[in-house]
Amino acid sequence: MFEYAPAPESRDIVDIKPSYGLFINGEWVEPQSEERHKTVNPATEEVLSEIVWAGEADVDRAVEAARKAFATWSAVPGSERAKYIFRIARIIQERSRELAVLESLDNGKPIRESRDVDLPLVAAHFFYYAGWADKLSYAGFGPDPRPLGVAGQVIPWNFPLLMLAWKIAPALACGNTVVLKPAETTPLTALAFAEICRQADLPPGVVNIVTGAGETGSALVRHPGVDKVAFTGSTEVGRLIARSVAGSRKKLTLELGGKAANIVFEDAAVDQAVEGIVNGIFFNQGHVCCAGSRLLVQESVAEEVLDALKRRLATLRMGDPLDKNTDIGAINSAAQLAKIRELSEAGESEGAERWSPPCPIPDRGFWFPPTVFTGVAQSHRIAREEIFGPVLSVLTFRTPAEAIEKANNTPYGLSAGVWTEKGSLMLWAASRLRAGVVWSNTFNRFDPASPFGGFKESGYGREGGRHGLEAYLAV
Ligand code: NAD
Ligand code: MG
Repeated sequence: MFEYAPAPESRDIVDIKPSYGLFINGEWVEPQSEERHKTVNPATEEVLSEIVWAGEADVDRAVEAARKAFATWSAVPGSERAKYIFRIARIIQERSRELAVLESLDNGKPIRESRDVDLPLVAAHFFYYAGWADKLSYAGFGPDPRPLGVAGQVIPWNFPLLMLAWKIAPALACGNTVVLKPAETTPLTALAFAEICRQADLPPGVVNIVTGAGETGSALVRHPGVDKVAFTGSTEVGRLIARSVAGSRKKLTLELGGKAANIVFEDAAVDQAVEGIVNGIFFNQGHVCCAGSRLLVQESVAEEVLDALKRRLATLRMGDPLDKNTDIGAINSAAQLAKIRELSEAGESEGAERWSPPCPIPDRGFWFPPTVFTGVAQSHRIAREEIFGPVLSVLTFRTPAEAIEKANNTPYGLSAGVWTEKGSLMLWAASRLRAGVVWSNTFNRFDPASPFGGFKESGYGREGGRHGLEAYLAV
């Protein structure tokens, strides 16, 4: 094997301020909260900037601004709202290299992914929903569907700018205004987005960005001036939010965790399936709610598939997220690394067999090598709990019926994958899997026109597509 020469993307293109305020009513404002925290580059532990953890008074000010803006924004004709959203989409495309570098710095994901997956999808989402803004009367929600009002939106750290796009694009297209809280470890692209709103001349107050952690999020979703709550994150926090919103007029959508089965039948094309398994669980370090974290492989081909998978994993490169050759970047935070370690240790102590390719670990930062557990039983924690890291649990099955039973044996239901050459088996399986998305002979594919969301404890409501409009309309 020959070594690749380093091919780092330059970070000169990004301009990170030493500290940020809050973005309220179209301006950067000084917070009332005196709490400030650092956001770091998880690949090096270098401090990137300092952000505010907003308090109740700050959240109140942001919601007030959004309420005031709603009166005018909701009266702007759809064709005019579309122009703003199209403008935002184009600015994102123009600044995509800068945003990709910023995302990789703050999150730890490989530049190859932020450049080729996150950013194109972010722009596509704004383009897609800009197109809906003047066609809402034809969306199947009545002749004149009305917006809800102020949306309070809370997002996680795994796809910071993409989750922002999933939340903000449909909200604005439908005529709502928003207060968005990014995750505490990845606030920088949301703050860059605030600048983009200014660049696009978006009226003040239509988009407000308040940074902070769980308490800020909680203040936002509890605020009486919020009409709609949209949350993406853990099932645990989703439950708290559902409780706090219950009994109020607020409309709620929840996009929560997952423990997806990726099912490989014996007639599947093995090399293609192996690529799909790798993409399913090692894409974005496995920090993917719909990750294919449980591989269900038919017993007759299990050895062949696992041998091929291990050979493939030995070629993955872990390291500097800004290097264009990097396949696996850093784990987003020390806390997430501790969670992955804890569950992996439980896998070993419960009797599963652990394997990782030889993989040098950088001295600084948060890293976890690609890991495969074989001999996993359904009762093991690593088969039941979401690890949210580059860890694959392998189970086997003998018959298609057993595969479906095992796949559905989870409290979650966000996604699933089916690998087979037979169309009939594909459809048979897809109609029996209790999951919001079923991919066949591919995995982790996203398109703004396609609705995404969960069954069971993976949440409710859909984002993307025409379905995604419903969450932001009074229907
Ligand atoms: P988390 O639930 O702890 O945090 C998510 C967001 O909620 C963060 O912005 C956080 O600050 C905020 N938050 C925390 N406590 C809160 C509270 N009490 N009230 C309001 N907001 C609060 O999750 P995490 O560990 O940051 O993210 C990983 C989880 O998110 C995983 O379980 C993953 O499956 C899930 N996730 C789901 C999707 C999806 O689309 N279904 C997408 C990405 C991540
Ligand atoms: Mg960070």
